[in-house]
Amino acid sequence: MTTVETLRSKLPFPLKPLADIAYNYWWSWTSDRISLFQSISPEEWQRCGRNPVALLESASYVRLTQMAKDPTYIKRVKALAQQFNEYMEQKNTWASNIAPEIKKESPIAYFCAEFGIHESLPIYSGGLGILAGDHLKSASDLGVPLVAVGLGYRQGYFQQRLNQSGWQEENYIDNPFERMPVELITNEQGQPLTIKVEVRQRMVNAQIWLARVGRVKLYLLDTNRDDNDPIDRWLTGHLYGGNQDTRIAQEVLLGIGGVRALQAVGINPSIHHLNEGHAAFCTLEIARNEIQRTGKSFYDVEASVRDRCVFTTHTPVPAGHDVFSSDLMDSYFAHYWATLGISREQFLALGARRLGDPWEPFGMTVLALRMCRTANGVSELHGQVSRKMWKILYPERAEDKVPIGYITNGVHAPTWTAPLLADLYQEYFGEDWLNNLMDSQMWAKVDNIPDEEIWWRHQVLKERLIAHTRYKLKLARQQRHEDQHRIDSVEQLLDPNVLTIGFARRFSLYKRGDLLLRDAERALRIFGNSDRPVQIVFAGKAHPQDEEGKRIIQRLMEWCKHPSLVSRVALIEDYDIYTAQKLVQGVDVWLNNPRRPLEASGTSGQKVCFNGGINCSVLDGWWCEGYQADANGKGINGWAIGEDANTSDQELQDRIDSEALYKLLEEEIVPMYYDQDANGVPHRWIQMMKASIKINAPLFNTDRMVADYVTQVYAPGCSSGVKPILASVTA
Ligand SMILES: *Cc1c(COP(=O)(O)O)cnc(C)c1O
Repeated sequence: MTTVETLRSKLPFPLKPLADIAYNYWWSWTSDRISLFQSISPEEWQRCGRNPVALLESASYVRLTQMAKDPTYIKRVKALAQQFNEYMEQKNTWASNIAPEIKKESPIAYFCAEFGIHESLPIYSGGLGILAGDHLKSASDLGVPLVAVGLGYRQGYFQQRLNQSGWQEENYIDNPFERMPVELITNEQGQPLTIKVEVRQRMVNAQIWLARVGRVKLYLLDTNRDDNDPIDRWLTGHLYGGNQDTRIAQEVLLGIGGVRALQAVGINPSIHHLNEGHAAFCTLEIARNEIQRTGKSFYDVEASVRDRCVFTTHTPVPAGHDVFSSDLMDSYFAHYWATLGISREQFLALGARRLGDPWEPFGMTVLALRMCRTANGVSELHGQVSRKMWKILYPERAEDKVPIGYITNGVHAPTWTAPLLADLYQEYFGEDWLNNLMDSQMWAKVDNIPDEEIWWRHQVLKERLIAHTRYKLKLARQQRHEDQHRIDSVEQLLDPNVLTIGFARRFSLYKRGDLLLRDAERALRIFGNSDRPVQIVFAGKAHPQDEEGKRIIQRLMEWCKHPSLVSRVALIEDYDIYTAQKLVQGVDVWLNNPRRPLEASGTSGQKVCFNGGINCSVLDGWWCEGYQADANGKGINGWAIGEDANTSDQELQDRIDSEALYKLLEEEIVPMYYDQDANGVPHRWIQMMKASIKINAPLFNTDRMVADYVTQVYAPGCSSGVKPILASVTA
């Protein structure tokens, strides 16, 4: 019996459809689907980490039979089961009309090192993973034939705890794959289907988990098997843990193993999408297969490999691109280049920025740029930065002719829009608003919503964020054994009537999580103001090896304890998708102040727009394209912090930006928020909320993004011409 069948067999008759729904993350996109599980037992639902399989497994038979005899509940199950089946079987989709040439029999294969689909599948660390998850969801919604490949990390990233002194500690917890909404792929004998990859001169077996994301299948390779050497079992232990050696081993598994896994499950992709350089080794394996099949040489099959591979780069700094020493390459690939029929030097040249330099390390981005027919950055500005950074590979070209284009990131609207607002959009935009996300005329109807209507909903969502923050901080303080007074004081933390700022992202130096604190006294005057106070909620992890990032967290934790700010400043531990949803749905203002141009795109600010939150951000990444100002330079749909002084003097730039941020808060943001009518409704503010929604939502959603990938990257023959900047890498 399959995993789904086993679960189905345990459920009372009218609840049986829940088994199929539980094993498809389609359930996680809208609140009516989530509540199907939640209402079985709200407490158990939280305890299970909102994992429907674990919930159904652990629910008592008494409870299940209670639900099974409740006519209202059964009707809901029936209706959603029908909706689910119709969705899964839908023939007439956006993609079937726009891109019928992409066939189910030869789908797009999307490779990524992490996927952030839901907090119950913790195999993501941050932006890249969430983007990948949202890509799959929109590909499913649009009916794009797409499968995905990643790694099934035994312990994922890490769980963040902050100790008494505010220092980050990392906990690693086993993912209970057997109780997660994933299925182990088996062969005809009912045994796990495995593939083999040579890693560190040993054959390693990987089994394959399947996670269903609507109509998209995500395959996750896992080496945690007892027929592997104990060290190799940890190959898929951690995401971005370990050293260069683990890193290359994982990338060999993802790239080469990924191609083999697709073969093993009978999938023959037309296009391989390398989402970031981690998977670039897949191009070599595709070449190897082609050489074996045709008997041609590597250089004869190169063009046909390139025709089947496309690349998205995400990193605007040279140091962020994976490179491996030639020693490391030797130890992993000495057996491999012969199978490509090329020499060691020819092989290493594929990843060398400068040919003929024996000290040049092997770059994954270089390999991807050489072996893919298109390459793109993730915002207009990032495209520009990438062309400059990789000009070195195209010495004969002018910088603006370097063949790296851009497709700006977006977010999956159903995942990130609060149910209370989705309900409002449905009322004002129409029943099928989710099918028209790219339609700016539809979004313009947000102006028809009465201010009071949108405002009370926003306020409820803010209260929900406050409740979540208090809950998380109480738990954290209890775990740190803080004194009872401190624990109880969370009940006074944050106030829904106070202007609320959110700041959540990875803590690393360039994101300047403590920029607000540069002038501590001025910050105190703004946040501690008794007339028109301001409050802020932080969240985010620092990479385990990033001491500077951890020091920023520590500084913020210290700030939280300032006597005038204890009820105004909070830092939520262990940022994940669930906390992200609460934050982006509940804040008034979303703050982002990275060092320009180091934010390739950023997506959390886009999530905020779908919920009427307003961005206050440095003009970096997507905000360069999103921000609009009037003739007087005043923001229409948000605020832009500072200006690029075009200086290498970080100190100077930090001073300029923090000054500008304080000034914006003091002179524009705070006065506008507190300009309220007799009923406490801030009409000027709501004007800007509506602008934030109607200007940004139609552009920065993943339906638009995936549609761009389909028409400008995936479609046959895509290379040059469609959008001038997306010229073919080989042209
Ligand atoms: C959206 C999201 C991110 C990425 O946000 P950025 O704006 O790109 O920093 C990271 N982590 C989580 C949990 C998210 O939901």
